[in-house]
Amino acid sequence: MLRPSYIGSFPRADTQLDPPLPDVAFLGSSNVGKSSLLNALVGHRIAKISGTPGKTRALNVFLIPGLGAGASGLGHETPTPGPQAPGPLYFLDLPGYGYARAGKAQRTAFRALVKYALQRERLRGVVWLLDIRHSPSSDDRVMQDVLVAGETHVLTALTKGDKLSVGQRRTRERELREELELPEDQVVVTSARTGDGIVELREAIEGLVRGAA
Ligand code: GDP
Repeated sequence: MLRPSYIGSFPRADTQLDPPLPDVAFLGSSNVGKSSLLNALVGHRIAKISGTPGKTRALNVFLIPGLGAGASGLGHETPTPGPQAPGPLYFLDLPGYGYARAGKAQRTAFRALVKYALQRERLRGVVWLLDIRHSPSSDDRVMQDVLVAGETHVLTALTKGDKLSVGQRRTRERELREELELPEDQVVVTSARTGDGIVELREAIEGLVRGAA
């Protein structure tokens, strides 16, 4: 099994990638746990766990050889490679938003990056991350509006599930689904720490790539 690889960091999200493959983008406020989730999804440390929030301004691209076979998560579960497991794809790691000290130029650059990322020809969908403990911020709301306006396929990952008890987790999932009017089958509670929900999210991403192909 080939390892995922870092392709590069691109200031423009309309960059053509070679070879052309399906894209799945990851979006969320800074510190939501995006790097940790990316690493858990692919079973390798591809993304840097942020020490400095708001620092990344470009689109980081990773080539994922496949999400089924060999993607072992954090070793907490054994994924079964299905015969229909999709081939290689790109993970597009967009910078975290909502960084309080981001300047105007940085916000403008971020908006352009998202706009062009959502317009990518091979974009199959977006994994949108929300911290399960928090109410959606105004930046999260703006992002949801952008995703709806772009008619983007969205999977919502509720991160850091391990920070709540099982009961609280269920309650928060329901509350967030209702608050944001999210369809039940497009929301996954995850924990990069325990590996909970990682297999489910991987499968949902595979569905996204297959379904919209
Ligand atoms: P990013 O800024 O969205 O890329 O977030 P990071 O992945 O860098 O994580 C931000 C902080 O949240 C770090 O201190 C992580 O250790 C922590 N974190 C990320 N995911 C989880 C999780 O699933 N559970 C817990 N308890 N902490 C997490």
